[in-house]
Amino acid sequence: MLIVQKFGGSSLADAERLRHAAALCLERRRGHELVVVVSAMGDTTDGLSERAHELLPDPPLRELDALVTTGEQQAAALLVMAMRELGLEAVSLTGWQAGILTDRNYGSSEIRFIAPDRIRAELSRGRIPVVTGFQGVCAAGDITSLGRGGSDTTAVALAAALEAELCEIYTDVDGVYTADPRLLPEARRLDAVDCRDMLALARAGAQVLHPRSVELAAANHVPLRLLSSFTGGPGTVVRRLSDEARPRFAGIAGRPEQGRLTLAGAGADAAALAESTVLLAGAGLRVQAGSLEENAVTLTLPPERTLEAMKLLHREMVLRQYTAL
Ligand code: ADP
Ligand code: ASP
Ligand code: MG
Repeated sequence: MLIVQKFGGSSLADAERLRHAAALCLERRRGHELVVVVSAMGDTTDGLSERAHELLPDPPLRELDALVTTGEQQAAALLVMAMRELGLEAVSLTGWQAGILTDRNYGSSEIRFIAPDRIRAELSRGRIPVVTGFQGVCAAGDITSLGRGGSDTTAVALAAALEAELCEIYTDVDGVYTADPRLLPEARRLDAVDCRDMLALARAGAQVLHPRSVELAAANHVPLRLLSSFTGGPGTVVRRLSDEARPRFAGIAGRPEQGRLTLAGAGADAAALAESTVLLAGAGLRVQAGSLEENAVTLTLPPERTLEAMKLLHREMVLRQYTAL
């Protein structure tokens, strides 16, 4: 059976992390065929983008894509070297070598089609393909990027195209939490999260998974597991849960600097919008606007008070569901 493993930037940040990622591949390799997808090392993508903006305030998107996607190419080649050190036969492949065809929307392209012949050929030779995330090639033959965080999408799209048994996303946090643990340290790890709730969280700004990757996983029934490459542990499974297993709200996400927060879950209805507005008003936090979308109640508040509002709703409407059990 085939597994796709994706490593994010912090999981590949230096030689030690690259060696550790290679060791995780070695472990998985026993009993499985493996395809690996990589992001750029550490904050390489930010650094490359800054260089472009030093030269031009508004760099041409085609050239910006040609530049920022080089980070993944470095990471793929270096991870293959770390894998060789452990005796693993691996080969780095760029987006075009891996047959990832995109539209021509530089900076935020979408994968149109994957022709995985080369990947399959490498697998049949007993090699582990290490594919650059975040990039593909459009019909005009240009490199395009899938938008920030897009390596998750590469991994899920490959898992779908190769009919993989599982897609494992390795990152710096040990699962999906009820809120970004960097913003709300009291957030709780979820063993499983419904893909519709995960999509609402990702769209609202939960960086942990690229929204398009969650859409693709749901549409293609790709089982997804989010894991830490730092601490181990069972991580979080992202899949369609039964109505009974789905909490009213899986979590909260937002962009506090923009004054927006979103409660994500099956309970996103007019009653929840009213309840959250009343709760916040009770603490002197005035909601400026509220909206309902599928599985999402979104509120707008003054940016300087949005984190406080997130904390309160997280405690009263998200965490309370678990402590009540
Ligand atoms: P990678 O480089 O591995 O792709 P990212 O930085 O894109 O990693 O995503 C991981 C980060 O997502 C975490 O460090 C965490 O701060 C953030 N995050 C935001 N929302 C959540 C959430 N609900 N659960 C877990 N992590 C979250
Ligand atoms: N390296 C790219 C970024 O920083 C893609 C990714 O990490 O998924 O956005
Ligand atoms: Mg990411």
